[in-house]
Amino acid sequence: MQLDISGLEGYRTEIAQAGSLDALYQVKVKYLGKNGLISNLNRQLKDISSHEDKKEAGMKIGSLRADFEALHDAKELELKGAEKNAKLTGESLDITLPGLPFTAGSIHPVTKVFDEIVDIFSAMGFEVAIGPEVEHDFYNFEALNIPKEHPARDMQDTFYITDEILMRTHTSPVQVRTMLKNKPPVKIIAPGKVYRCDSDITHTPMFHQVEGLLVDERTTFGDLKGILTVFIQKMFGDNVPVRFRPSFFPFTEPSAEVDMGCVICGSKGCRVCKQTGWLEILGCGMVDPAVFKHVDYDAEKYRGFAFGMGIERIAMLKYGIDDLRLFFENHLKFLKQF
Ligand SMILES: [Zn+2]
Repeated sequence: MQLDISGLEGYRTEIAQAGSLDALYQVKVKYLGKNGLISNLNRQLKDISSHEDKKEAGMKIGSLRADFEALHDAKELELKGAEKNAKLTGESLDITLPGLPFTAGSIHPVTKVFDEIVDIFSAMGFEVAIGPEVEHDFYNFEALNIPKEHPARDMQDTFYITDEILMRTHTSPVQVRTMLKNKPPVKIIAPGKVYRCDSDITHTPMFHQVEGLLVDERTTFGDLKGILTVFIQKMFGDNVPVRFRPSFFPFTEPSAEVDMGCVICGSKGCRVCKQTGWLEILGCGMVDPAVFKHVDYDAEKYRGFAFGMGIERIAMLKYGIDDLRLFFENHLKFLKQF
């Protein structure tokens, strides 16, 4: 018996005439479905006795199926493209629809306070100076009256890269670099990152500092007190009390530490101010003549003052934050409050 393929000739026309994906699917079911006309051909194979004939019939079914699928797939692509085009031309853009909401970022509290400090001092005529974070021992210590073996070096835990190269422990080397390049008068602030080998609830290996330096012929401690009092009151409020306490720094003489009335308890005494009503906020003093010697300034003619503060500490006091590490953990819930 021979393979009977009568009634199959029609699929080419039917595929060509299918007007939609739906109609094309119906044609596919009719020929290749479970009881489709092409699928059913396989059942005839068992009635063919000759091995050769059977093989030939099998190949014929295979090529029929392949021909059907090629035509079908091409038609399917064509119909899909047409449907997509129809959809696009039918659609119009409604520009009155509300847009998708997006959340705005916020400025990091350290950056905020950093900018505020720079603004206050700029308004008082200080220029911003910057310098490298990887420094020579000379600029970081030697020129600031802290020679090798000086006990003051133990006040700062330093990251050394080589014996002579280190991560700067304060922004004071910028003052040295500025004085070496410029003759007085000098009036700068040096904000930036500093590094110390220290990490706990109140210390991080990297933090930010702002230091200031003013050198002129008639600079006095009174000028220093005035400028720092204006700064603190602009930062924390006009009525905040400020006091200066004698202290020691190798690069200033006399030196002082500056306290302001506790902004958290209103000077009544609390955990943050350790019941004293005062908060230490910065260090300062008149530039030691020994520093002037290193930068070739005439210590008889010029006098200067310098001050320095930690920006994170100012931000903690300003926003009532009690753990320094929050600044560096980047939790969105914390950052979004600013
Ligand atoms: Zn307090």
